[in-house]
Amino acid sequence: MKKHNFYAGPSILSEYTIRNTADAIINFADTGLSVLEVSHRSKEFQAVIDEATALVKEILEIPEGFQVLWLGGGASMQFCMLPYNLLRKHAAYLDTGTWASNAIKEARLFGDVDVVASSKDANYTYIPKGFEVPAGVDYFHYTTNNTIYGTEIRIDPTVDCPLVADMSSDIFSRPIDFSRYDAIYAGAQKNLAPAGVTLVIVREDALGHVDRPIPTMLDYRTHIKKGSMFNTPPVLPIFSALQTLRYYKQLGGLPELERRDLEKAAMLYDAIDSSRMFRGTVTDPADRSIMNVCFVMKEEYSELEADFIRFCADRGIVGIKGHRSVGGFRASLYNALPIESVKVLVEAMHDFEATR
Ligand SMILES: *Cc1c(COP(=O)(O)O)cnc(C)c1O
Repeated sequence: MKKHNFYAGPSILSEYTIRNTADAIINFADTGLSVLEVSHRSKEFQAVIDEATALVKEILEIPEGFQVLWLGGGASMQFCMLPYNLLRKHAAYLDTGTWASNAIKEARLFGDVDVVASSKDANYTYIPKGFEVPAGVDYFHYTTNNTIYGTEIRIDPTVDCPLVADMSSDIFSRPIDFSRYDAIYAGAQKNLAPAGVTLVIVREDALGHVDRPIPTMLDYRTHIKKGSMFNTPPVLPIFSALQTLRYYKQLGGLPELERRDLEKAAMLYDAIDSSRMFRGTVTDPADRSIMNVCFVMKEEYSELEADFIRFCADRGIVGIKGHRSVGGFRASLYNALPIESVKVLVEAMHDFEATR
């Protein structure tokens, strides 16, 4: 039986993605070869990466002047690659969690970094508000969705400089106003594909303004010039990404994806808020992530957490243990997770409460 998969990443992929990937591992595009054993320079794979790139542009409505890249190294590589290419002297960063602070650490290798606000004082359970971005910075970097803490910024912030964002865990869940951005990036393993590829979307005229020499592999222009084929790209994850993108398009694109995501999140947050036993960990409901729902047992029930995880496992629910830095539970409701799985989790919460 297929499990109800709430893992935070790598995480659930659509059945469409997994089935087509499995088929292509046996026979890719009628070549009589596995997608695991074809040249990335074959015309069949070229067609895959071309269509995947076109679908990213179509689904996210990316305007002219941006380049879509498929790179290795994970989102964590972008923590250094991005400032390498875009940070001239001074950048502003918002510290909303572990990933944000990892990005800040790397950016400091390349220039002055202003951390305009941080919610570290409360273990990142809220999104800082009312911060000011200093004038004249090269860009403002933020993390749209804080996968570990379950907070999210779903509205592009209004600042007087270009935006740059790590969208690893909520890309394809909302529209993005690209006119305000110089770059976004997203590791694939949350809402797109198996681990191994990172999607980078960068404004071409934002490049070429730094004085430092950039190593060839870390220079976005290398990969732009070669259509993400300067070296061997992660062929299989890109193939799977194409399947997910086709599936997203078939569903109706971002409006339908966002509608589903909001519906799933509302269902689970309602169950948490009306519960006797559980409570959410994010302090302001406006900051709650629709991708990663973090919750714990109320003080008086906290010794039941392990029991609840076992209770869920018996019903085929996996991956709800919270990140070690937060504890409790985290249910990741990525795009591929069917609403039926959320219903099963909500029912498990009710039933568990009824037994104690
Ligand atoms: C998972 C995640 C990362 C790390 O991605 P890697 O591909 O493992 O480097 C970075 N940022 C966010 C927001 C994430 O969710």
